[in-house]
Amino acid sequence: MKFASLGSGSKGNSTLVQHGDTLLMVDNGFSIKETDKRLQRLGVVATDIDAILVTHEHSDHVCGVARFAKRYDIPVWASHGTSKMIKKLDSINSFNSHQSFNVGDFIVEPIPVPHDAREPTQFAFKSNELKFALMTDTGSVTQHMVDALTDCDALLLECNYDRDMLLNSVYPESLKRRVMGDWGHLDNQQAIGLLQRLNTDNLQHLVLAHVSEKNNSHDLVLDSVSAAIQCDRAWLQVIDQEQGLDWCSVKQN
Ligand SMILES: [Zn+2]
Ligand SMILES: [Zn+2]
Repeated sequence: MKFASLGSGSKGNSTLVQHGDTLLMVDNGFSIKETDKRLQRLGVVATDIDAILVTHEHSDHVCGVARFAKRYDIPVWASHGTSKMIKKLDSINSFNSHQSFNVGDFIVEPIPVPHDAREPTQFAFKSNELKFALMTDTGSVTQHMVDALTDCDALLLECNYDRDMLLNSVYPESLKRRVMGDWGHLDNQQAIGLLQRLNTDNLQHLVLAHVSEKNNSHDLVLDSVSAAIQCDRAWLQVIDQEQGLDWCSVKQN
């Protein structure tokens, strides 16, 4: 199994995960031109993609989905609630947020999360005993998230903001309250708190994502996470908004 990112942050998110003959895209917050350019960087052509799964309807995740899916005739999957919010597509495969389903070689497990969208889900992808999960855009940590993310072989996790930086930022008070609220985003310490509740014995890759360009920094994320979970700083990766993340292989033990 392997995964990569076209970019992550408030200006656009998109993740790829591949196993066997199946290549899935999660979200697309980029234009067609930008998507094609970023796919090329990863050695992928759009027509290789078997399906696009959408986490929720916020524009940094969905603004490129409909046009890209139509251009290359790629099926789209989203929860019932998210499907209703994607208006520019004639057909969407809706799934029940509480039930796993198959797409190609993957078992996809939706993970409902507290976030200010209609029916947001994040995902765990399972294949051949391997589990890769991604978790961005959640305002708080639920027991259900802990159960769904434990025992991963690879994890992509939101470290959105540093609390002090956000509090001291020029953001309007209403936006600060939204980001910090239970249906907003995870700060570095909340992400660390979540990590500390997981069994990470099998974890081959820990990738930090959706890092705010204004209220956080890659160094701060790397320093705080490596200190808290006592891992080598160089083992961690942070996804860059522009550069994305190169392919990471997840190997069978
Ligand atoms: Zn987002
Ligand atoms: Zn969001």
